[in-house]
Amino acid sequence: MKELILVINAGSSSIKFQLFENEPSDPITLYKGLIDGIYVDPKFVAKDAADNKLADEKLPADLPKSHDSALRHLLAWLQPHIHGRKIAAIGHRVLHGGLKYSEPVVVTPEVFAILEEFIPLGPLHQPHNLTPIRILNDLMPGVPQVACFDTAFHTAQPDLHKLYALPLEFTEKEHIYRYGFHGLSYTYIASALEELDAKSAAGHTVVCHLGNGSSASAVKGGKCQATTMGFTALEGLPMGTRTGSIDAGVVLHLMNNLKMDAQQIEDLLYKKSGLLGLSGISSDMRELHASTSPRAKLAVDFFTYSISRNVASLAASMQGFDALVFTAGIGENDNIARADICARLKWLGVEIDLAANNIRSGEPRKISTANSKIAVWIIPTNEELVIARAAANSVA
Ligand code: ADP
Repeated sequence: MKELILVINAGSSSIKFQLFENEPSDPITLYKGLIDGIYVDPKFVAKDAADNKLADEKLPADLPKSHDSALRHLLAWLQPHIHGRKIAAIGHRVLHGGLKYSEPVVVTPEVFAILEEFIPLGPLHQPHNLTPIRILNDLMPGVPQVACFDTAFHTAQPDLHKLYALPLEFTEKEHIYRYGFHGLSYTYIASALEELDAKSAAGHTVVCHLGNGSSASAVKGGKCQATTMGFTALEGLPMGTRTGSIDAGVVLHLMNNLKMDAQQIEDLLYKKSGLLGLSGISSDMRELHASTSPRAKLAVDFFTYSISRNVASLAASMQGFDALVFTAGIGENDNIARADICARLKWLGVEIDLAANNIRSGEPRKISTANSKIAVWIIPTNEELVIARAAANSVA
């Protein structure tokens, strides 16, 4: 009987899961789902690989509202669905591996202690990523748990590209580096591009991961050279509700002259800005495209302008590029944004076939013209598969 691999992606109020069958070629999805509203009104949804709903239920009201209850509920649901098969390993999405972890790691008590030290670097995510590791260690003792980091891919950046121009001794003491995020998505894209277009994958690629959170990375021969997110996932491209890069002097102004406190500034920069803040309408690209408001257009224009500017900057970090890849919710689905970004990059030799760009498909596809100097790809990302592969490797 083939062994199973469980993938857990836990946040402050939700746990996403995917169960894979550990095929020798590549893990295959059996079930996936989500428990959300963990601390309010917890709800469990599970689907099979073809998206058929298998469960859609509230957790019993008498259970304590906690990650522990949510994970117990998930394991109880899985039990009759796995027909006595063994969960051989569990892979976890973990925000931060610092500069220490450039690869996934099996979590021992020593590793767990190191990962806890990274909590100040990602206080909104890291504790919630670590909680299920601790709980599942108790519930399923002896099953290897593998931490897969959003930062790991970016540890390959040259040291120069990890710096801010702060006093060097301060940077080193306080660990204020450009860590970068979305690394699991970039890992997947690098591996997929190698299969789809080995020539581009061996060369210089700019990958745009455009979703609710957005970033872009320069990737050379499959390794990260530079990325738009930095010390936190606030830097870089404008996002659904996040500012992206902003003059740090603005933050000083908010504190010193407008007397805003840290919580108010955090709310402004993380939750009220980006596409939502500019448009005053929505953080969702679909709603912005559907709107006739000039502010919706302004938000979309700022987004595509910022991305094109950052793509050129990332290309400069590698002295040029051969391929451009779009991925994540907007990158995969938004033909309007893609066309606009590519039009702004025409001067660099980017030319797409508009008809190919307009085709809706969940498959990877090339949308550049035969004459384009730059190969342009749409590649649906699959972060869970990257985690499942790493967990499977731990028991290979
Ligand atoms: P997350 O960062 O939460 O994983 P996703 O990668 O799922 O986000 O991206 C979510 C975003 O993708 C939505 O906010 C929406 O703006 C965008 N999106 C999804 N489908 C479409 C579509 N068909 N057209 C345009 N934008 C889309």
